[in-house]
This record gives sequence, C-alpha cells and structure tokens, in this order.
Amino acid sequence: MVWLKKDVRLHDHAVLNYVMQQPNPILIIYLFEPSLISIPESDVRHWRFAYQGIQDFRGKIGHNKILVLHAEALDALKMIAEAYAIQAILSHQETGLEITYRRDQAVRKWCKRKGINWKTFERDGVRRNIPDRRGWQKYWDDYMNGDLFPVDVSGLNLIRPNLNHFQNGMVKIPDLIAKPDPSFQRGGETKAMKLLESFTQNRAKSYLKNLARPSLSQETCSRLSPYIAHGHVSARHVYQETKAVKDRLGRNIDQFHNRLWWRCHYIQKLETEYTIEKEPINRGFIGIEKEFRPDYYKAWSNGSTGFPMIDASMRCLIETGYLNFRMRAMLATFWSFTLWQDWRIGAAYLAKVFLDFEPGIHYPQFQMQAGMTGYHPMRIFNPILQAKKYDDYGVFIKKWVHELGNVPENLLATPWELSQMEQNFYNTHIGKDYPYPLVNYDQATREAKEKYWAYRNSEHVRKNLPELWRKHSLPKDIINYEEELNIQTGLVTESVMYNPKP
Ligand SMILES: Cc1cc2nc3c(=O)[nH]c(=O)nc-3n(C[C@H](O)[C@H](O)[C@H](O)COP(=O)(O)OP(=O)(O)OC[C@H]3O[C@@H](n4cnc5c(N)ncnc54)[C@H](O)[C@@H]3O)c2cc1C
Repeated sequence: MVWLKKDVRLHDHAVLNYVMQQPNPILIIYLFEPSLISIPESDVRHWRFAYQGIQDFRGKIGHNKILVLHAEALDALKMIAEAYAIQAILSHQETGLEITYRRDQAVRKWCKRKGINWKTFERDGVRRNIPDRRGWQKYWDDYMNGDLFPVDVSGLNLIRPNLNHFQNGMVKIPDLIAKPDPSFQRGGETKAMKLLESFTQNRAKSYLKNLARPSLSQETCSRLSPYIAHGHVSARHVYQETKAVKDRLGRNIDQFHNRLWWRCHYIQKLETEYTIEKEPINRGFIGIEKEFRPDYYKAWSNGSTGFPMIDASMRCLIETGYLNFRMRAMLATFWSFTLWQDWRIGAAYLAKVFLDFEPGIHYPQFQMQAGMTGYHPMRIFNPILQAKKYDDYGVFIKKWVHELGNVPENLLATPWELSQMEQNFYNTHIGKDYPYPLVNYDQATREAKEKYWAYRNSEHVRKNLPELWRKHSLPKDIINYEEELNIQTGLVTESVMYNPKP
C-alpha cells in the first residue's frame, strides 16, 4: 500500500518508482485527516489545494485507482486492513507538525503489532536521524543533482479499491474543500509543471530585479512554493529544470538555487528538532516576557494597523495566500519587535493564511526573524522604508488598502503625516477612513530593541549557542557565527547591528 502524503505527483516519486519494480498489486491511498483539518494553523485554502492535487493525480492514474478517505490515519488503516492483506506500507517521510509526528509514531506502533513493514523514503534532500550537519552539504548536492525517479503509470499494478468496504468509515469531504476559489493558485502537478515552464522560459529573467518588490515579484518569483510544499512537484525536479537554463539566466538561477537550498536547510532544522514548532530554538528565550495584546493581534491579523505596508501585505495574504519573502519577514518582525508580541501566536496565524505553509520553513524562519536563535544578525524591516523603496508608484498599497486610493504615491507610506488640508483635499480622513498607526514606530521599535538585546546578551541565551551551532549549522558557518558573537560582544557598535539591510 502506498500512502501518499505531501507527494501527490508522478514526476520524481521515489515511492511509486520503487513499487513499479514490485510484483505485488498496489493500493494507493490519500487521507484527509479531521484532526489535521481542525488545528488552528489549518485553513480551507490548504485542503482545497491538496484536493485539487488529488483530482489532477486521479486524472493521470485513472479515476477509481486511488482510495481517498476522510478519516483519522489509524481508523483508516484499520478499515483497510480488514478489507485487504497489507504486506507493507510505503510512503515519503514527513517533516511536519508535532501532531503528524505523534500520528506517525502511533501508526508505526500499529504496524509493528500487525507485523506490517512501514518503509519510508527520504524527501527533498532532508535526512532523518542525523545528530549534526557533518556531510550534509555533500548529501544535498548529490541528491539534488542525482537521477530523478520517473514513474510510468502503465508499469503500476494498481488495485481498484472496492468502496463498499469503506461505507461505514466514509465521511463526506467538506464541500468548501471541493469548491474552487479563483483568488488562489490552483493545486495539482499539471499546474506546477506549467508554472515551472513559464518561470524557466520567461519570468525568471527578472527574478533578482524584483525579488524584494511585493507587486512585481508576484509575476517574477517562481510562485512554486505551494506546489513544492504540497508535493505537487519535487524540489529536485525544480532544481534540475532551472539548472538547465542557468547559462541563459545566470545569477537569477544562482539566487533561486540558494533559496531551494535554504528550504532544505530549514526543514532539516525541524527534522532534527521537532520542538522548534512550539519552543524557542534557543531555550534561553523561554522566559522573555511579552504581554499579549488582543487589540494588537486584531489589528495586525486583519490588516488595520495604520501602517499601509503592513496592512497591504496582510490583506494580500488573506485574499490570495501569497506574499514575497521580504514582506513576510516585515510582518514577522513588526509583530515580534515593534508590537513586542510572542512569535508563536504570529507564526500560527501566518501558517493559516500562507497557502504554501511548510512547517519546516515556517517555524525556523519566523523564529529567526523574531530573534529567537540568539545568533543571527538582527534585522527589523521598517514598513515605512519598505513602502518607499519597494512599492513602485504605490501600486501594492493602493491595490490592497483602498481607503488610501486618493492619496498621492509620495505620501502613501506615512498617511498619519497628512495635514488636515491634505486630508480634506484627498477626501481621506485619518482616524475615520483609515486608522492612526497602532504605535509610534520609532519609539516602540527602539524600546523593543533595548529589551531584546538585554535578554539576548544574557548568560542563559549565550550558553546555548555552541550546542545550537553544533546541531544546526554547517561546519563552515560555525566560524562566522563565532565572529558574530565577537561583534555582539563589542567589536562593532550595536547601531551597526540594528541597521536593517537594504
Ligand atoms: C516568517 C516567514 C515564514 C515563511 N514561511 C514559509 C512557508 O511556510 N512555506 C514556504 O514555502 N516558504 C516560507 N517562507 C519563505 C519564502 O518567503 C517563500 O518560500 C517564498 O516567498 C515563496 O515564493 P516563491 O515560491 O515565489 O519563491 P521563490 O523565490 O521563487 O523561491 C523558490 C522556492 O525556494 C524556497 N524558498 C524561497 N525563499 C525561501 C526562504 N527564505 N527560506 C526557505 N525557503 C525559501 C521555497 O520553497 C520557494 O518556493 C517564509 C518566510 C518568512 C520570512
């Protein structure tokens, strides 16, 4: 039996490639697990995308050749085991949430009791059970450049499941999941391939130029993240297709490949230490005090903070599920520093609205932006500067913050500075049509930095650094982190450290 998880595709599929060479008939299953659908990080957008992936896959392997159940994993396996003599379960490894980790532990226990072999395959260059990163870079290079695992559907000896066996356990998949929503990217391997093709043929030529720009990057970034996260295309396939056009597209592809590398690097962190989902990477930060402000949460999460770039970014996410990297980082640092709020609450909310939610990227990234490692350089993305530098002609803000539609481009970043006459002139009244800023940006951010550095320089944060580097850093980077520690202890003044990079 093949249990498809985040790998619903035919190109480069280690599991399906493996079963092609086996004599036994194969049952393919996919599960919509109610307990996963109901966690706070989950949203209908994720399951709709997954569902569209299944529909696409069905079209390729034959409509009745995949068993899709809306049931908890153990319940589903028990039902299947009553109907079929399962000899082995095959699946890709999943670097997921604690809830999927615990579910996998329970499934493994059940398999052991039943004498069923559960064979798992590594996913996307991420390794299981490694204590540190020695040898990781070579493994990653070899993996990404290695042979893809092709699948020939005619070579699969597939069982056509008899649905009568499952009537009792079949709960209808919620209607909302099956209903498309045109504001979001549509799931499925076919869409992923088309998108990849348009990226290599045309869009990637402006990748670097527009990377930081929230509006233009929607066209010129790959937009492959939800497909890679849901496994509708493999990262290795994307890597190799883009490598093939490197001569033509040069640094655009180098930078793109760096990001594919980061992806695996971050996922490897969560794979090595699953507690990163819920606890600071550097446990020394456990005691840092941040009082929850429901009013801040409400304004930040629905895009009404009074900072146009923050609000435009959040509204864009809510409506489309997508945002470029820089603006995501800005949302995370605004939440964690300027509003001085707990990273876990912010991370859970963004997980829900990101169509590409990938736990292994998301939690380490959010924690890094929130300063929870205690060793990365601190960068707070100032929303006023981001608007001035990266929102050409105010297109992005005007698109998402309609209330400011009449305000000229050069005044858009700081609408609270409009004079009364300007407000009348543009028929945009601050405090009425659009809110005053939630906080005084400079003051709130300065105070946050002071509190943060006092904590970060404390012994309970610093004492964990060598252990963190040993576990999560590549051997060559450890030297840089040691330099970084020197910087923080006085070789370079703090003001240099505070300056956000352009
Ligand atoms: C706080 C925060 C949370 C994030 N959470 C997620 C998440 O849940 N899922 C997710 O896919 N990305 C996440 N990212 C990373 C990044 O913002 C997105 O991958 C990227 O914006 C997706 O757009 P794209 O596919 O067009 O990217 P491209 O620039 O075309 O990149 C190609 C691929 O590389 C990977 N990638 C790109 N940037 C990064 C990065 N900085 N770190 C790690 N991998 C990267 C992604 O798989 C992406 O699809 C997060 C970033 C931040 C700051």
